[in-house]
Amino acid sequence: MYLRTFPGRVLHGFLRRGLAASGKTPGTEDAAARGYYNTGGAQQNPGPAGAAHVRLVDLRSDTVTKPGPAMRQAIAEAEVGDDVMGEDPTVNELQKIAADMFGMEAALFVPTGTMSNLIAVMVHCRERGDEMIVGDLSHLHVYEQGGSAQLAGVHATTVPTLPDGTFHLDGLESKIRHGYPDPHYPRSRLICVENTHNIQGGRVLPLAFLQEVRALAEQYGLSVHMDGARVMNAAVAQGVPPSTILQHTHTVSVCLSKGLGAPVGTMLAGPRDFISRAVRCRKALGGGMRQAGVLAAAGKLSLQEMVGRLEEDHRNVKTFAQALLDCQPALFAVDMAAVETNILRFRLRDSTWSTRDFCARMGEVGEGEEAALGQGIRVLMYPHFGNSIRAVWHLGISPEDTQLAIQKMRYVASGRSKENVRAQ
Ligand SMILES: *Cc1c(COP(=O)(O)O)cnc(C)c1O
Repeated sequence: MYLRTFPGRVLHGFLRRGLAASGKTPGTEDAAARGYYNTGGAQQNPGPAGAAHVRLVDLRSDTVTKPGPAMRQAIAEAEVGDDVMGEDPTVNELQKIAADMFGMEAALFVPTGTMSNLIAVMVHCRERGDEMIVGDLSHLHVYEQGGSAQLAGVHATTVPTLPDGTFHLDGLESKIRHGYPDPHYPRSRLICVENTHNIQGGRVLPLAFLQEVRALAEQYGLSVHMDGARVMNAAVAQGVPPSTILQHTHTVSVCLSKGLGAPVGTMLAGPRDFISRAVRCRKALGGGMRQAGVLAAAGKLSLQEMVGRLEEDHRNVKTFAQALLDCQPALFAVDMAAVETNILRFRLRDSTWSTRDFCARMGEVGEGEEAALGQGIRVLMYPHFGNSIRAVWHLGISPEDTQLAIQKMRYVASGRSKENVRAQ
């Protein structure tokens, strides 16, 4: 017993001392300075813990969902086989369902969205030094550690991401290289778009934009890959099947582990020869999983049962956004036209109030709060790009949770305005 617990305790001690010595999570301040949401935020927003009478509304991300009873049962009962040998029936079924749904020839189950995007880049940009064009605020460019350069030897050039997640087409066209095989230049191979756009707050790319990007790509012999981590949210918001969106792209990556509620997994889809090559890349990257049917079973439920409920997330976001706008005193700025799916971005109108402080107050139960509200409410959100705050709705957040978040927001706002009056 002693021998078994001792190393754990020692390790724990080291970790605690290490953190105490540095006084912060490594990278926390850099992330804040860059203005992207702070994934080191576990520290400023201590995770889901606390007293039982404290209600928690976790709006940090739609990745925090946990599988419910039906999904756990599907996982428990999944038929499995060795998927590296192509013999897992549940994985094969999931891949067929995804391909049909997306209007693509084939699909591949991969562990994460990051690996899925990397595989897509590797297959589209096959020669070392090939180049892709990405939005400067795209997930691929900002949050994936430059994996396409690190691991695939692919050069990226950026176009400015506009507030609605699109680019200027002439700016895009100006980034296409024409010099190949002149040894000075890389060769343009790929254009990546992101739908819905994460950093820009869940913006849905207009179909006309996708059509124009595709036409431009065809003109220059390039491919179009969509980082469609949340493309099902886009489809629901536009009221179209995903295949209507994806007819404009050659390949797509769709996360099962976000709003669709699976614990793990992403679908990569495209032409059959693309997927054959993707299978090779996935194995090289260590993503060839064996009895992956236990995960694919959850993914099947995600695609078959969970798409319809995204609408509910979109409704809840709008309810909260409207409450921010209606809040008196008017402390919040929200562009309602930009609230399209399950991600909300908003700003504080009072420039002396930091987004960090606001998020900290939303995330803690302050003195007197339980008496004022009848219970403690912790609402977790992240400070985000461009001095905004980001909140994300998902299947763990009911209309009632949304009302709790509104109640807390009003409480924090009124506390702030009392402070302001006192300061005058
Ligand atoms: C979450 C996300 C990814 C990456 O997915 P992981 O499974 O977390 O690796 C890629 N692109 C976008 C737009 C995302 O939101």
